[in-house]
Amino acid sequence: MNQTLFSVKDLSVGFGNAAQSTPVVKSVSFTLERGKTLALVGESGSGKSVTALSILKLLPAHQTFYPSGQVIYQDEDLLQASEARLREIRGNRVGMIFQEPMTSLNPLHKIERQITETLRLHRGIKGPAAHARALELLELVGIDSAEERLGHYPHELSGGQRQRVMIAMALANEPELLIADEPTTALDVTIQQQILELLKDLQQKLGMSVLLITHDLNIVRRYADNVCVMYQGEIVEQQQCDQLFEAPAHPYTRKLLDAEP
Ligand code: ADP
Ligand code: MG
Repeated sequence: MNQTLFSVKDLSVGFGNAAQSTPVVKSVSFTLERGKTLALVGESGSGKSVTALSILKLLPAHQTFYPSGQVIYQDEDLLQASEARLREIRGNRVGMIFQEPMTSLNPLHKIERQITETLRLHRGIKGPAAHARALELLELVGIDSAEERLGHYPHELSGGQRQRVMIAMALANEPELLIADEPTTALDVTIQQQILELLKDLQQKLGMSVLLITHDLNIVRRYADNVCVMYQGEIVEQQQCDQLFEAPAHPYTRKLLDAEP
C-alpha cells in the first residue's frame, strides 16, 4: 500500500508581478506519509505559511504566481485542479488550524452555530444530528461542560478553549490531513502542551497526517516524525526528527539548535 499522502515537488511561490518579483518560496519539495507528523520549522518570514497555504491554493489567486511546482495528492496535481475540485478537497479531506482562533471564529455566533455551520456545509448534517455531533466534537477535544459551552460566544471562552473549538471544527469533516499553522503560538506554555498532546492523541485515534508549522524546536522535538528546516524560502535540511537533533547537517539548523533555550 502507498504510504504517501501527498508530495510537494519543486514548489515555488511569489507575489505581485511575476516578471518583477522573486519568489518567497523557492523550489520546495517534501512528502508527507500517512499517519505521520511533518514539521516545517524556520524563523518568522521564512515561507512556512505560504508553503502551507499553497498546498490547497488558499493564497489570493490574482496576486500569487507559481513559477514551478506540483502538489500531488493521490495522483492529482492540486496546483492544476479546478476551483470546484479544490473546494471539495478542502471541505472533505483537509482540516486547518491557525495561530489565533479569535480571527477564525465569528464573534457574533455561538459556538454551537459555528460548529453546526461547518457540519452542514461539509457533511450535510443538520438539526438534532448536528447538535449531537457538535457536542461529541467538543467532548472529543476535551472541553468541559460541553453542553453549556455550545451556548457561549467566542469571547466567553479562554484562548485555550477557543483553540480547542478550532480543533473541533477542523476535525468536523474527519480529515485525513490536518494543517496546523503555529496552532499554539498565542497560548501560554501549559495550555500549549495540552493542545499539542490533544492533537497527538487525536492523530493516533483518527489516523490523520499532520503538517505542523512552528518556529519552536521544542515542539518539533516532541511531536514531529520528520522535519523540514526552512530558511529564506528554501528547505535547507530535511531529516527524521531524532537525526536532526542528533546530527544537524546544515549550518543554519545548527544555529537554530544553538539558539534554543
Ligand atoms: P512564515 O510563515 O515562515 O513566518 P510567510 O510564509 O508568512 O512566513 O511569509 C514568507 C514571505 O512572504 C514573507 O516575506 C512575507 O512578507 C511574504 N508574504 C506572505 N504573504 C504574502 C502576501 N499575501 N503578499 C505578499 N507577500 C506575502
Ligand atoms: Mg507563518
